[in-house]
Amino acid sequence: MRELLLVKYGEIYLKGLNRPYFMHALVERVKQAVKDLGGKVWLYDARIFVEGASDMTECIRRVTRVFGVHSVCPARALDKADFAAICENAAEMMASKRGTFKVDSRRSDKTYPMTSPEMNAEIGGYILDRNPDLTVDVKTPEHRLNVEIRDECYLYSEVIMAVGGMPVGTGGKACLLLSGGIDSPVAGYMIAKRGVELVAVHYFSYPYTGEQAKQKVLDLAKILSEYCCGIKVYVVPFTDIQMQIHEKCHEEYTTLIMRRFMMRIAERIAEKEECGALITGESLGQVASQTMEALNTTNMVVKMPVFRPLIGFDKSDIIAYAQKIGTYETSSLPYEDCCTVFTPRHPATKPKMNIVLSSESRLEGDRLIEEAIANTEIVKF
Ligand code: ATP
Ligand code: MG
Repeated sequence: MRELLLVKYGEIYLKGLNRPYFMHALVERVKQAVKDLGGKVWLYDARIFVEGASDMTECIRRVTRVFGVHSVCPARALDKADFAAICENAAEMMASKRGTFKVDSRRSDKTYPMTSPEMNAEIGGYILDRNPDLTVDVKTPEHRLNVEIRDECYLYSEVIMAVGGMPVGTGGKACLLLSGGIDSPVAGYMIAKRGVELVAVHYFSYPYTGEQAKQKVLDLAKILSEYCCGIKVYVVPFTDIQMQIHEKCHEEYTTLIMRRFMMRIAERIAEKEECGALITGESLGQVASQTMEALNTTNMVVKMPVFRPLIGFDKSDIIAYAQKIGTYETSSLPYEDCCTVFTPRHPATKPKMNIVLSSESRLEGDRLIEEAIANTEIVKF
């Protein structure tokens, strides 16, 4: 008997002819996740198997965080010809259980001498004889012993739910505008979950925002990188741009113009990184710069599509999501962001285009953008 993990995939099953491409990508992602634990990973018959990891608990934690994985089942692998051993192991696995149970057998090896109902009856009877605390309930059992007859026989009773989604890299690459707030890490997670590789851009305004604020963003990127197989963060100095905007533009328009500059620079980095879209954590009506009119004004400066996965989310929903993925605590640390440094008292919620353009014409836009990009620092996780 050997112990291993049987990994089930999620939405990939909907794929048709290109399913092998997605499966291959998923196997690669699982391999990457368990590499330094020494786990061996292989694909057989619509299941991924992981065996031999030095730390099983850590291995499970990592595999359940790989996008594309539906669930992970700690399993016992046995010689399928040895039915006595299968019964014995099944009884052992159910020995500590009480209440109702069911044996659920399936065979992809159709030459196997027993049918699934026959196996259910035999193994179920064997378990019942050895555990008086169990009774059978085939409709809504409290416990389920799964038996899969493939190249070998696999037994498992525990199904640990994983993150779902699609394997990272199968959906292209996008550039996340990552602040230190609650929203943008969640937005990045959601798009990465759909199979998209992430590159992040963070604007910081030293000395108005300090080292700790920057470190907070890097910590968030590190958390995200665990899900999305690594992340490259562009840290862009934004102080000069903010200072000029503050000095030369209408006060009510400063946030909006600042956001337009963020989008322009992000698009330049995204083009260089061959990304197909930008991602922000904006949510309709959350703040003045996120009214429909304001969002249109920021959209206008880029040609690339802008993904805003949180657009219809309430803040409370976003917080719950951030707690679930493990970014909330870091996001809640009280460090300032460049957005909050020069916040106008009455930001424009229905901006007028002629004022936006006349304000921007007073700035040395191109030079500021070139300089910011030239002084960018890259951090990789
Ligand atoms: P978050 O939205 O992440 O909680 P926030 O609320 O401080 O942070 P907003 O003012 O709501 O940020 O900004 C909207 C979006 O603009 C963010 O979700 C993020 O995508 C982007 N953004 C804001 N500040 C920055 C920054 N300093 N660097 C990169 N992107 C930023
Ligand atoms: Mg926000």
